[in-house]
Amino acid sequence: MSISSQETNTFNQQNKRCLGKVYLVGAGPGDPGLLTLKGKGLLECADVVVYDALVSPQILMMINPQAEKIDAGKRMGRHSLFQEDTTKLLIELAQSQAIVVRLKGGDPFVFGRGGEEMEDLVRAGVPVEVVPGVTSGIAAPAYAGIPLTHRSYSSSVTFVTGHESAGKYRPAVNWSAIAHGSETIVVYMGIHNLPYITSQLEEAGLSPQTPIALVRWGTRPEQEELIGTLETIVEQVEESGFTAPAIAVIGNVVNLHSILTINN
Ligand code: SAH
Repeated sequence: MSISSQETNTFNQQNKRCLGKVYLVGAGPGDPGLLTLKGKGLLECADVVVYDALVSPQILMMINPQAEKIDAGKRMGRHSLFQEDTTKLLIELAQSQAIVVRLKGGDPFVFGRGGEEMEDLVRAGVPVEVVPGVTSGIAAPAYAGIPLTHRSYSSSVTFVTGHESAGKYRPAVNWSAIAHGSETIVVYMGIHNLPYITSQLEEAGLSPQTPIALVRWGTRPEQEELIGTLETIVEQVEESGFTAPAIAVIGNVVNLHSILTINN
């Protein structure tokens, strides 16, 4: 959203004393036990909550019953295309409500456009604070028995998006650099582009036998995993009808899945 500095100043002068505060709250990956205490406290005293599609129903149930609940996904259509409207809505709400919660899945600053939203709110002179959440890229592998680092297998991890932003057909990610940059790779939003991603990583020199795990609806009761290799996973996805939202974990730490889930 573009607000000229002149408009921003006018807005500030006129509304300085009566603006509410927007809290950008991370809802975590789904399990309500993974919501932070600070996030829960804000949901309980919010006047209005604007939430995204990936926030779990159990967390929505924690919202103050008197609060207005706005489904940003439904209201805006495809959320990825209408970011400007969401920000405009938050600015409007801050003019009439004291506590505005912008609730996002996982962590607001990890592939959640929280950075862009906060930037626009700050530019508009709206008081805003971020409340981090447990990101799905860590929690979904953990619940699948996959530690992202391990002294024997991996001392580094990269978080990358498999789908960079609306309008671009191919993500502008340097997969060759990613392939060699760390021992564990965690891909968000990667299911749709999986054939491209796996072929890019293999072309960059990763072995076709490199283990990969897909974790769908991680930390929720309906969590599902698909374990394979770079060579096999695309066919496995097609055969099983595996769909988003899922996290992909690539690297030898994936082999720990069979050991660390043995008691579950
Ligand atoms: N801010 C979020 C990520 C938003 S991008 C976070 O920190 O988790 C949306 C992507 O996150 C999805 O396409 C999927 O790749 C991943 N994701 C979100 N919740 C998930 C979950 N419960 N299980 C697996 N993947 C999830």
